[in-house]
Amino acid sequence: MNLKDYIARIDNYPTEGIVFRDITPLMANGEAYRAATKEIVDYAEGLNIDMVVGPEARGFIVGCPVAFEMGVGFAPVRKPGKLPREVVSAEYEKEYGTDTLTMHADAIKKGDRVLIVDDLLATGGTVQATIEMIEKLGGIVVGCAFLIELDDLNGREKLEGYDVKVLMHF
Ligand code: IMP
Repeated sequence: MNLKDYIARIDNYPTEGIVFRDITPLMANGEAYRAATKEIVDYAEGLNIDMVVGPEARGFIVGCPVAFEMGVGFAPVRKPGKLPREVVSAEYEKEYGTDTLTMHADAIKKGDRVLIVDDLLATGGTVQATIEMIEKLGGIVVGCAFLIELDDLNGREKLEGYDVKVLMHF
């Protein structure tokens, strides 16, 4: 099965000049969704993880089945104002200005071995902010898994020294 067959390409979305990769056809196909999940689980099996962390919203879609399958917990990364209890936060650079992400302060325990999962690695800002929060809480990022990496955007540079698994490159 070629997982790339289940990724739709949308030109000029959400704005002119952007090529958007849409994972909803992959999620809509049970076999493809399961195959992608299994590939990440196979990667993570040797890492001895305690938690999966995923940024909203597509990091939930990809990360939760991985956590379920491995029998570990899942902690959400969210935009400010969405989590009801004490949070830690991290800022990251966007094309125009900065953005902030948050996690519950008790989501990760000191020494937890954490796998970060998201649908797509673009500039790497999202994953970098996520790593910052996990490490602030004393967690150890033992791996980062993405369905897709957009190679031209060089997000990989922000992940130097971290173990990275990517299922598809565009
Ligand atoms: P980064 O922070 O620039 O690496 O962007 C990654 C984040 O933006 C991920 O959480 C993705 O869900 C989202 N994203 C960026 N580009 C795309 C795309 O083409 N398709 C789907 N999600 C995208």
